Amino acid sequence: MSKNLTKREEDYSKWYNELVVKADLAENSGVRGCMVIKPYGYAIWEKMQAELDKMFKETGHSNAYFPLFVPKSMFEAEEKNAEGFAKECAIVTHYRLKNDEDKPGRLMVDPNAKLEEELIVRPTSEAIIWSTYKNWIQSYRDLPLLINQWANVVRWEMRTRLFLRTAEFLWQEGHTAHATKNEALEETIQMMNVYADFAERFMAIPVIKGVKSENERFAGAEETYCIEALMQDGKALQAGTSHFLGQNFAKAFDVKFANQEGKQDYVWGTSWGVSTRLMGALVMTHSDDNGLVLPPNLAPIQVVIVPIFKTDEEFDAISEVANELVSQFRRANVSVKFDNRTTHKPGFKFAEWELKGVPIRIAVGPKDLENGTFEIARRDTLTKEVKAKEGIVNYITELLDIIQKELFEKALNYRNNHITEVNSFEEFKNVLENKTGFVSAHWDGTGETEEKIKEVTKATIRCIPLDRKFENGNCVFSGKESVGRVLFAKAY
Ligand code: AMP
Repeated sequence: MSKNLTKREEDYSKWYNELVVKADLAENSGVRGCMVIKPYGYAIWEKMQAELDKMFKETGHSNAYFPLFVPKSMFEAEEKNAEGFAKECAIVTHYRLKNDEDKPGRLMVDPNAKLEEELIVRPTSEAIIWSTYKNWIQSYRDLPLLINQWANVVRWEMRTRLFLRTAEFLWQEGHTAHATKNEALEETIQMMNVYADFAERFMAIPVIKGVKSENERFAGAEETYCIEALMQDGKALQAGTSHFLGQNFAKAFDVKFANQEGKQDYVWGTSWGVSTRLMGALVMTHSDDNGLVLPPNLAPIQVVIVPIFKTDEEFDAISEVANELVSQFRRANVSVKFDNRTTHKPGFKFAEWELKGVPIRIAVGPKDLENGTFEIARRDTLTKEVKAKEGIVNYITELLDIIQKELFEKALNYRNNHITEVNSFEEFKNVLENKTGFVSAHWDGTGETEEKIKEVTKATIRCIPLDRKFENGNCVFSGKESVGRVLFAKAY
């Protein structure tokens, strides 16, 4: 296994692109901006899905599935949403090909097979879902309606990168309808909290909860709540969003209900989503110059056992011990792999599992058999120790918890060390050029100032933190009054 990973210090972006491919997570495809997610990458995504799905169900949501295509007239109904996504839509105009008479063996679009109405490939599903909810909701008894969909969506992104920004991506999108504004707001905040909880407990990624500025708000929403994470290069990444839709979609699609007094009213809506971008966040938060570092809670393989042997006899004796260990780990719900390939040398296997971020490696050689020991190596700290066979399963399950916790703490320390309060635009620019990370600054609350700051520094408002202190100050750019600090950063 040749690693030859570019170092993060040298070129962080190149390091990321190489790592995603070399660790077998995903690769570019023959389709512009679209990726192939490989089995190892998909196994991590499946673990994320399973946990999130459980959390959605525990908060009362059910899964359903809606069509990939949205008729243009339906798409247009909520004007702001349509306008917001108009520039990145893929559109189906025809439904048939025919032989090209001028070019034998080639096909062409059949001009006679033009659709009467174009179909938009969903960039998000509010339109199709709210047009369906109209038939599902008549009275307050039909509410709340709490639905989630696991699906792919298409946004014709111009600058794409594996996982972080692709033209087609996998995600989940929750779409809920409520009788009151308060209930919808509570749902919006609840789902932001679910995302934050998932990011911190499973991905070991600390996040900042906040609301977006108007410029960054989801098209068609009244308010966008989000969780923001910080990557190792000091750039921020939007890890999840939860939108309070007000009655916008209900009005656009005429979704009314009879309330308890028998009066008709429009329902209140929310939508919320996380995507395969989370895979990018996972890679960028924990991994190092040797490859992936996966938090145990999401690692498809938590422990790998590598035999060190010269002769067939040694291999057989080690296999016996390793197979017994595998059974013990399985009983303890630890996902384990015994790498018994005889086609590869231990050194190759060590490098491969290191590259793939398996949290713990156990090596067993003839000496260990004699002494009743194992060699345990941690992927995150690259430390090794020899441990006695007795109590090994307990030791490893505890170690997995410790690794999970320490990865989070390390990321949290890094994040906290990269939030800098500034009081002038000079300082603002300085931080972005040197230390990077989040810049906490006073802002006058206007979109114009936000735009200008972005033009000069490329930094955007990542969020107005929910826990911000109200403090009077002056906008770092305009000098106008401000009531509190917001977080700026360059972002993915
Ligand atoms: P939105 O519907 O725009 O609020 O996005 C929902 C989620 O999908 C957010 O967590 C975004 O960060 C993520 N997302 C948006 N665009 C892309 C993309 N092109 N590739 C991957 N994830 C995306």
